[in-house]
Amino acid sequence: MRRKLLLGNWKMNKTSKEALTFAKQTDELVKIAKENNVDLGVAPTYLSLQIVKENVSCDMIVASQNCHFEDYGAFTGEISIPMLKDIDISWCIIGHSERRSYDNETDEKCNKKIKALFANKMVPVYCVGETLTQFENGQTKEVVERQIRIGLKDLTKDEVKNLVVAYEPVWSIGTGKNASKEIAEDVCKFIRDILCDMFGEVSEDIRILYGGSVKPDNIKQYLSCPDVDGALVGGASLNIDSYKQLLINII
Ligand code: PEP
Repeated sequence: MRRKLLLGNWKMNKTSKEALTFAKQTDELVKIAKENNVDLGVAPTYLSLQIVKENVSCDMIVASQNCHFEDYGAFTGEISIPMLKDIDISWCIIGHSERRSYDNETDEKCNKKIKALFANKMVPVYCVGETLTQFENGQTKEVVERQIRIGLKDLTKDEVKNLVVAYEPVWSIGTGKNASKEIAEDVCKFIRDILCDMFGEVSEDIRILYGGSVKPDNIKQYLSCPDVDGALVGGASLNIDSYKQLLINII
């Protein structure tokens, strides 16, 4: 039985002070989530990771939005996995579409990062999804399959049982145009089938999230889909009331 997962992606939002204010209001939510078998988390900016981690319950997931695949070296502006581990961060989003579009995050680079995360016993949240043009050209599955097969190349069954995949159609991120639940289920099921082909029955343990303009009033439909195990939420995770409502609406 896969546990539901609600993960907020704060992107480049919130100063450390604002992140701390949010963090201090999460205790009740973590309790509600735990009682209802939901894993709850947020992904603050690098600068706020530590302050958030230190001010939330240990049951709350605090994820990085990115990492480098090398442990250290001449990579100006980057953060390494040992640096994340040093502040007790054990989750990391990889391959978010904004990083794919603005920072040349390729499937090959994602693969190196995911391997490095697993080598450090961390949990990657691997984002995949097609652009609007690809969607309109009927290329969704071809694109997603490539992202999955390259991004997860040469991983072991043992490693991927802790993997989280997020299907986020690029045309739905931050646009208010959320995918229908039928599209979300169809693609998430397709992803699970590829995972099964690559890794066998462990694919049944891998959590697959939907992301893209998820709001309190539309989240429930996604969680009713058999292959959607949770949501990766940007805009609607920034405000504590809206974040709480997302949780309430899936329990
Ligand atoms: C995201 O950042 O991953 C995301 C899905 O954003 P939004 O919910 O704002 O569309």
